[in-house]
Amino acid sequence: MSNRKHQIVVIGGGTGGIMVAAQLLRTRKNLDVAIIEPSETHAYQPAFTLVGGGLMKKSQTIRPEAKQIPKRATWIKEYVETINPDENEVVLKNGDTINYAYLIAAPGIQMNLDGIEGLAETLGKNGVCSNYVDPEYTWEVLRNFKKGIALFTQPATPIKCPGAPQKIMYLTADYLKRNNREYDTQVVFATPGTVIFGTEPFKTELNRYVNNVYSIAQRYAYKLVKVDGDKKEAHYERMALPDGRTDYVVNDERNAAGCIGYRWDGKEKHVVEEENNHIDELKEGTRYIIKFEMLHLAPPQSAPTWFQATKLANPDGPNKGWMACDENTLQSKFYPNVFGVGDVTDLPTARTGAAIRKQAPTIVKNLLQIMDGKEADYKGYDGYSSCPLVVSHNKMLLAEFKYDAVRSSDPLLSKFFDTGKASYPMWLMKRYMLPALYWHAMMKGYQF
Ligand SMILES: Cc1cc2nc3c(=O)[nH]c(=O)nc-3n(C[C@H](O)[C@H](O)[C@H](O)COP(=O)(O)OP(=O)(O)OC[C@H]3O[C@@H](n4cnc5c(N)ncnc54)[C@H](O)[C@@H]3O)c2cc1C
Repeated sequence: MSNRKHQIVVIGGGTGGIMVAAQLLRTRKNLDVAIIEPSETHAYQPAFTLVGGGLMKKSQTIRPEAKQIPKRATWIKEYVETINPDENEVVLKNGDTINYAYLIAAPGIQMNLDGIEGLAETLGKNGVCSNYVDPEYTWEVLRNFKKGIALFTQPATPIKCPGAPQKIMYLTADYLKRNNREYDTQVVFATPGTVIFGTEPFKTELNRYVNNVYSIAQRYAYKLVKVDGDKKEAHYERMALPDGRTDYVVNDERNAAGCIGYRWDGKEKHVVEEENNHIDELKEGTRYIIKFEMLHLAPPQSAPTWFQATKLANPDGPNKGWMACDENTLQSKFYPNVFGVGDVTDLPTARTGAAIRKQAPTIVKNLLQIMDGKEADYKGYDGYSSCPLVVSHNKMLLAEFKYDAVRSSDPLLSKFFDTGKASYPMWLMKRYMLPALYWHAMMKGYQF
């Protein structure tokens, strides 16, 4: 067991950790920065959607971590076990301790497969897949999916990139259309949410895709509680809809119009006669059961368990376990020499790499200010986040917003594109420009 000290310690060498470390070292070359990161590889996760849709290879999304660690930073290849912020100390899994003057927490988010009954046993087989865990299996399931229901769903917990469960749904619907499988199949979106998207004009554009382009059946305020992989059943409980609404079930038109006219139970067709009973049935008291051939889901997610036990996490309340950060300065609410970035934070906005692109410069500025004996009073972050919603193999729209789900367009981008309308140039941006910007600009500490 050894004890070391670094001026700035960064926990996590993912998107947030590398971006902040690289920007710090680009701004002040002589800083002593250590990055604690156990993984040998670094993934460009936004492209997992394209891997799941068969539009990119997984190997194209992964690079060696060694190439991402900034040259002047020290790489400590270990897991953090806990943080003792009262002692300015990080404890590693191997028993070593690292002391710091300043800490950046960026350990990301944790997948909790145990959060849904039966999920851990069946994910990765029986047609149950997740781009959050293994996008290559998603593609395997999709290309072998010929008949029945493809169900897309997400948990009631916060998740990273909340648009990702929809993106793979659009890619699936598009693939089925292009391969003449759409009349033997039905795509279903079942979500604990109450709308397809919260901000206009993206909501209108996505509704057009869901209802008109693809005829996707929707189930709102549906909370997934169990997956039975052997029986290929997803069990849901209905949550209350706001304002007395009762439109849980939207768009069974293809059934009503006789395009399908049957329910597929995994083995055979059942002619559907009852209205609004095409896809799911109320069984077992209050549970609705949807039978699927393909199920894509985002697992329930949380801050890492070890992080939740530290004094940097909210001890209670609705954000319990997530890192308590000032919404505009990103400084820890409890320890002024600590900042948080990325998925682990409790910021009320979508957890994305795009959000981190705007968080990193704010952290860098505030950290340098406190190192210079000033206050961390730069309120540079306004909750910006964005979600490139791929709606087909060659079209995308870019939903950009800030706190309170207010639309917030990047001034440079909106000079060239109408980001609220799905288009081919925007698709090119997702497929080629954003990955290049990630590896060659964001990971290298350039601010833009
Ligand atoms: C399917 C999918 C699609 C997405 N699509 C988009 C998109 O289109 N646009 C977008 O902007 N974002 C997208 N995202 C989200 C984006 O990738 C994340 O928000 C972003 O990577 C979060 O960065 P982070 O640094 O917080 O966490 P990560 O990048 O996940 O990094 C966390 C790091 O911490 C390390 N770590 C974990 N535990 C420890 C420990 N105990 N000790 C030390 N290190 C530890 C991990 O190894 C990891 O390297 C997507 C994500 C997924 C999964």
